[in-house]
Amino acid sequence: MDTMHRKRNCSVGSCGRAAITSLGQQILCVNHFLLRCYEKLDGLDPRGRKFTSEPIDLAAMRGFIEECSRKALDVSLQCEELSNLERGRLLDILLWAGELFLLLRAPRLTFAESMASADDGMAARAAIPNL
Ligand SMILES: [Zn+2]
Repeated sequence: MDTMHRKRNCSVGSCGRAAITSLGQQILCVNHFLLRCYEKLDGLDPRGRKFTSEPIDLAAMRGFIEECSRKALDVSLQCEELSNLERGRLLDILLWAGELFLLLRAPRLTFAESMASADDGMAARAAIPNL
């Protein structure tokens, strides 16, 4: 893996923590990685979407979901200084990304249908405090 990330600092604002991974073009510490994943997944989740005419770029969504789950797995396997909370969040992201991937592969599933089955998951997620 990219060992170069380990010697650099998180590129978000004045964070300054050691970067452990990257997302897109940004190198990130574990906190900001988690934060970015949550923000992005939240924005991509069709269950959280209002029915707007906003175009959905499926290829870009898939790309992000794949990157996000691959990186989350890498971090959880390779970073030895994770707290239980951070591990929990990484797992949450992995599961959420997996769920979204399945939703994207079943485009005929209506949002209303997925809404009904998603209530539990959304509630659990809402209980996780913001970073
Ligand atoms: Zn950071």
